[in-house]
Amino acid sequence: MSDDIFPVVVIGAGLSGLTAGLHLAARDLPPLVLEADIVWPGGRIAGGEDETLEYNGQTWTFSTQHGIHALWGGYDNMRAMFDRFLKIQLRPSTGEEWINRWGTHVSRIEAGTAVRSTWFPPPFHYLQLLFRPRFWKTITWLDFFSVPGFLVSFLWAASVDPIREQIALEGLMLADFFKGWTPNLKAIFKGLGHSLLASPSEHITATAFIAAMRFYTMMRRDTWHLDYLPANPHECMIKPMIKQIEESGGKVMVGSRVETLTRADGHWQIRVEDLRLGSYRTLRAEHVILAVDPPAAKEILTRSPETCQKAQEMRFPRGLENAAIRLWFDAAPQNGAPGGMFTGDFLIDNFFWLHRIQDEFIAWHQQTGGSTIEVHLYAPESVFEQDDRLLIIQATKEVTQAFPELRGHFIHGSIRRNGPTQSQFLIPTEKSLHVITPWDNLWACGDWIGYPSPSLWMERCVVTAVAAANEVLKANQLEIHELIPPRESEWLVRIVEFIARGLRKTIGPVILGTARALRRKKRDGRQKSHSDP
Ligand SMILES: Cc1cc2nc3c(=O)[nH]c(=O)nc-3n(C[C@H](O)[C@H](O)[C@H](O)COP(=O)(O)OP(=O)(O)OC[C@H]3O[C@@H](n4cnc5c(N)ncnc54)[C@H](O)[C@@H]3O)c2cc1C
Repeated sequence: MSDDIFPVVVIGAGLSGLTAGLHLAARDLPPLVLEADIVWPGGRIAGGEDETLEYNGQTWTFSTQHGIHALWGGYDNMRAMFDRFLKIQLRPSTGEEWINRWGTHVSRIEAGTAVRSTWFPPPFHYLQLLFRPRFWKTITWLDFFSVPGFLVSFLWAASVDPIREQIALEGLMLADFFKGWTPNLKAIFKGLGHSLLASPSEHITATAFIAAMRFYTMMRRDTWHLDYLPANPHECMIKPMIKQIEESGGKVMVGSRVETLTRADGHWQIRVEDLRLGSYRTLRAEHVILAVDPPAAKEILTRSPETCQKAQEMRFPRGLENAAIRLWFDAAPQNGAPGGMFTGDFLIDNFFWLHRIQDEFIAWHQQTGGSTIEVHLYAPESVFEQDDRLLIIQATKEVTQAFPELRGHFIHGSIRRNGPTQSQFLIPTEKSLHVITPWDNLWACGDWIGYPSPSLWMERCVVTAVAAANEVLKANQLEIHELIPPRESEWLVRIVEFIARGLRKTIGPVILGTARALRRKKRDGRQKSHSDP
């Protein structure tokens, strides 16, 4: 190969691109990684400018970031990468609180430890909540009317493995999953959907929710098990990953935005805009790994002559906006869980008490007695049209409704608005982009990329990135990296799954056929009444 052809170019220095780069570098195939952002590599785990707070005559400086904090139990490949390359000491979560509000009535329950440490085997582990007195303050007797609807939803979720079977059912949304549920239970699980999928309800499909429930909680007790990063991910993940890639001879080039890919003479020509100089150059590569967010992938592939035709027929998930709001108080809430979620009438979604999780905030708490909460907003677009101050005020009002002991103690608030790059999770089908793309020597990875693994978010980034790196290693006759297979479901859930699947295959077509016939009859009736004079 001629000297000016790179063996591998990775496009995008988010978690996926850096993971692929790290695994290639570990096999002496150091890549060139091109990153569009001029200052902050890392994508959705990127850092940002520090923020300062003047308090009692002292200036406090805090690092900022996009808002990622936790690894879940099933993140086995990500944990293996941490052990091998990053040596991060994670902080186990001591519980997750669910806080619901209807009007002025707020109820709180710590649900996480109940679900993961119960004797009830899944899928019945949530029954443990019935033994928590606070749970009875969360529900009313009316909620028992949810039982039939709950059973139907539950059997539906047990009967289908959407990612493995590539069943997307995209017309069906989260609201369809909760048909027949009472508002109370619906609100709690809707909130769970927002937090697990980092999206508002209107962008969550029923099958994405099922996939999330199956991966994070439904099949095993130990998957609902969070561990927190002890520091800002820019410091503990991105910087060490880049350092190791560069020490092995690779390079991460920021401010390099890829425009198009062209296939010529058996290699890829990559047209790159240098955003610092405003100039363009063309690089050549034997292999390319595309590790960008869905809107960026769509733009690159539909703009490139070689890929545009097939890319136009592909289905790319949309990119969603979100925001992370931080609030500082000069007092701390009473003991409680380090994080959790808000549901019901709350606008804010999940939350993290940073002074219980991350070193710099722990130091602030220890010296001042103050506290800091980060709340996330996965709201419809219209909410993000409001100005920063209004959103901070709303978040403060809601946090102090949930933690009344903090009323009158607010001292500072900030908001980080994240652009529309968060993937709407859609079940990958044959119309999606997969690790193995339709084009020679072009591979893809990311949290929205098709691959036969039930994993989501950061674990999916790592799994698809290692899989993409392995394709390049195989082509170069180098040893591939082992991928840890998903954990097996617990025994009772396997039996329930078997029965539910049987029902789906036998009664399912009859129910679907009847529903379709009824819908057709209704539509024909409507058309007839319109055409009658
Ligand atoms: C608020 C929030 C909180 C989250 N919390 C968690 C959590 O606690 N746990 C969890 O598992 N997941 C979490 N996630 C999801 C997680 O952040 C993502 O799954 C993950 O970071 C995605 O990484 P990625 O590398 O696939 O994509 P990205 O991070 O989007 O990286 C893509 C990169 O490609 C670059 N790029 C784009 N276009 C080009 C181009 N043309 N040329 C060159 N480069 C380009 C971008 O600048 C970016 O750096 C959270 C997400 C959000 C929004």
